[in-house]
Amino acid sequence: MKNVASVIVDVPAMQTDRTYDYLVPHKWIGSISPGMRVAVPFGPRTIQGFVIDLKEKGEVSKLKAISEPMDLVPVLNEELLSLGNWLTDKTLCFKISAFQAMLPAAMKAKYEKFFRMEERAELEDLPLSLKPFFQKGSEVSWKAVEEAGFLPLIQRQVKLGNVDVVYKVKAKGKKKTIKKILPTFLGEQLEDVLNRLSPQATKQKEVIEFISRNGKAEHGFIVNEIIEGAGTTASTIKSLVNKGLLLETFVEVYRDPYENRVFEKTLPLSLTHQQDEAIKPILEKIDHSLHQTFLLYGVTGSGKTEIYLQSIQRVLEKGKEAIVLVPEISLTPQMVHRFKGRFGNDVAVLHSGLSVGEKYDEWRKIQRKEVKVVVGARSAIFAPFENIGIIIIDEEHETSYKQEENPRYHARDVAVHRAENHQCPVILGSATPSLESFARASKGVYELLTLSKRMNDGELPKVSIVDMREELRNGNRSMFSKELFDKLQEKLEKGEQTVLFLNRRGHSSFIMCRDCGFVVQCPHCDISLTYHRFSNGMKCHYCGYEESVPNACPECTSEHIRYFGTGTQKVEEELNKLLPGARIIRMDVDTTSRKGSHEKLLTAFGEGKADILLGTQMIAKGLDFPNITLVGVLSADTMLHLPDFRAAEKTFQLLTQVSGRAGRHSLPGEVVIQTYTPEHYSIGLASKHDYDRFYSQEMMMRKMGAYPPFYFITLITLSHEELMKVVDIAEKLSGFIRSRLSESTIILGPAASPIPRIKNRYRYQCLIKYKREPNLTDTLKTVLDQFQQQYASSGLTISIDVNPYMMM
Ligand code: ADP
Ligand code: ZN
Ligand code: ZN
Repeated sequence: MKNVASVIVDVPAMQTDRTYDYLVPHKWIGSISPGMRVAVPFGPRTIQGFVIDLKEKGEVSKLKAISEPMDLVPVLNEELLSLGNWLTDKTLCFKISAFQAMLPAAMKAKYEKFFRMEERAELEDLPLSLKPFFQKGSEVSWKAVEEAGFLPLIQRQVKLGNVDVVYKVKAKGKKKTIKKILPTFLGEQLEDVLNRLSPQATKQKEVIEFISRNGKAEHGFIVNEIIEGAGTTASTIKSLVNKGLLLETFVEVYRDPYENRVFEKTLPLSLTHQQDEAIKPILEKIDHSLHQTFLLYGVTGSGKTEIYLQSIQRVLEKGKEAIVLVPEISLTPQMVHRFKGRFGNDVAVLHSGLSVGEKYDEWRKIQRKEVKVVVGARSAIFAPFENIGIIIIDEEHETSYKQEENPRYHARDVAVHRAENHQCPVILGSATPSLESFARASKGVYELLTLSKRMNDGELPKVSIVDMREELRNGNRSMFSKELFDKLQEKLEKGEQTVLFLNRRGHSSFIMCRDCGFVVQCPHCDISLTYHRFSNGMKCHYCGYEESVPNACPECTSEHIRYFGTGTQKVEEELNKLLPGARIIRMDVDTTSRKGSHEKLLTAFGEGKADILLGTQMIAKGLDFPNITLVGVLSADTMLHLPDFRAAEKTFQLLTQVSGRAGRHSLPGEVVIQTYTPEHYSIGLASKHDYDRFYSQEMMMRKMGAYPPFYFITLITLSHEELMKVVDIAEKLSGFIRSRLSESTIILGPAASPIPRIKNRYRYQCLIKYKREPNLTDTLKTVLDQFQQQYASSGLTISIDVNPYMMM
């Protein structure tokens, strides 16, 4: 008899990152299983925990007992439990963080539990002793059932699908309900009921007749259905409720964020020759239930999505399920539309624009097997499907697939791991694949599938590069070049639309010469130095090198050398001044922080309510409007000089993406890229849409700099309130790591982090570069263990990011 549960408790700390044994009270033996959450006593408190194992023990007198189960069916299946262990190992996070990352936020909050009969179940299906608790559509509190001693009994009903457990989150994310009206009499009692009503009550009789004649009586009616159907009034219904002939109850409805939209059914298109060649190997793996990772490298508009759709279709025909990841920002209605249009109600959508409750509802549809496809952002990779037939990651190069808090996982790694478990293919799709993925495809680790042509052989837009140094020499000090400004005016006159793109603000603190475009770089790292306004100095955030800001350009001796940064707001003001007639929509973090505002602004632009869409990163993707004929990039350089070895790659990807917004339909598109470094290969090659050459050039740079994909990297960041303390510990730490790792491993630092102080804590970092380092995980665990134990009480925090994407 398995009477003891191993539980991971909800205390994310080093010392508690292990299982604790709890006694399973006799009445719950057999009901509690791995993957369920339980409430357990822990010190003076009762907290949540995950059961991960059950075992049999003779001596249990010292064990505390589980207070109560929180689930009746596991919320984490076997695969997800072991995935949690894998995540813990790979990302060095706490087990509890890994498990919680897989569940919707609503399940972390405080909630009350209820039971509810399923729509499809009948009262007759329930065992006799449970019948008194239920009425169709009503809810029964968990407590009541438990106190009556019927938990085991009801658990079977949950497994049979007759009863569902409902969690009502206290305070936030309340469940949505609607009022329904049900008859309290059966069809055969109709005559009886009518006779009981007084002869004058003709209106009431009509309602009763309408309800019993209607086939859906047992499912209940919305009040308006009766009012319209029986031509009656709310007060007539109310009086029947008062007489006990009708029952008013509240029934849960899923909050469906897309419920008011009609998704027109689409059919599979007949594939082009290129698409056909690309999809064949995928279908073959699906048919034979084999794992393989495919890199689908196809220019924008080459029909990648259609390949996703038809692959999914094959998966569904085999009775399996599909996970589709898209970047948060492209979860626009347009994207959702394409999946819902093809697969209708089989699709659940998960993204951060949904409320806590909405996300929870979508997650439940997946868990209850009511849907077969999930389209979502990063965390949808943990969808609790049990029979996955394909995992698709669109725009696979996007860095938002990496989570920047614990567990610091990359969805691509999780996808490949899950797909191996399920023996199914993975498709990574992109017009500008990450260097890592393309390198793997070149080495044959992934299988490369290529779509080189746009649909209908559409032309990619013509891109012109404007040298802003030249503009300055010609006396133009504005942020718009003559060419861009002329085109803006021309589009305004023609009534066509323009997208103006400005890189994310705030991080553009590099020093540049406005005359020659010279950017001050670190002599050791080939990375631009970051300007610090406070000390008026420049620093390298990889190696710690420092120098003061020069008064004149070291390259051309011009005095126009200064630090750079322009915000969207400033651009908007300038536009208002220069083009007073233009209607502008500005999209940045400030204008899109409210729920739904992102979508609203885009819709307005799509409806032609503005001439110019001005924005940051968030407008680079997913925009597909026929009237956009001009795309302007105000300064291509801002991202290029970030202290990040991926700066050139990100610049290339972004410029390619942005350019893809123009001329997607019948009107030809133009792109103007303004830059101070037109000679940089990432800008020049993006303007020619030449990924292949960019790839070889960038690979050369990475090889020289010993960066991925030639080396793996791991970033350790330390922080402490006292500068001296953090410097001292960082020195010790890097010494320790050096002593443990192999000769060929490169350890940079310690050096101050690019953001050297956050919330009054000083930050120092160490970058480890390695090819093969069998001791790494062990060493890092020791670091976490020892350094944390030794210094945690003094306020030191340490974070380890394996394969970091944020170097700040
Ligand atoms: P991508 O995902 O590569 O950007 P899409 O899948 O969005 O490309 O395809 C671009 C356009 O071409 C879409 O409007 C799509 O409906 C259309 N399209 C894709 N495949 C076909 C096909 N086989 N026949 C006709 N039109 C297609
Ligand atoms: Zn200069
Ligand atoms: Zn350096």
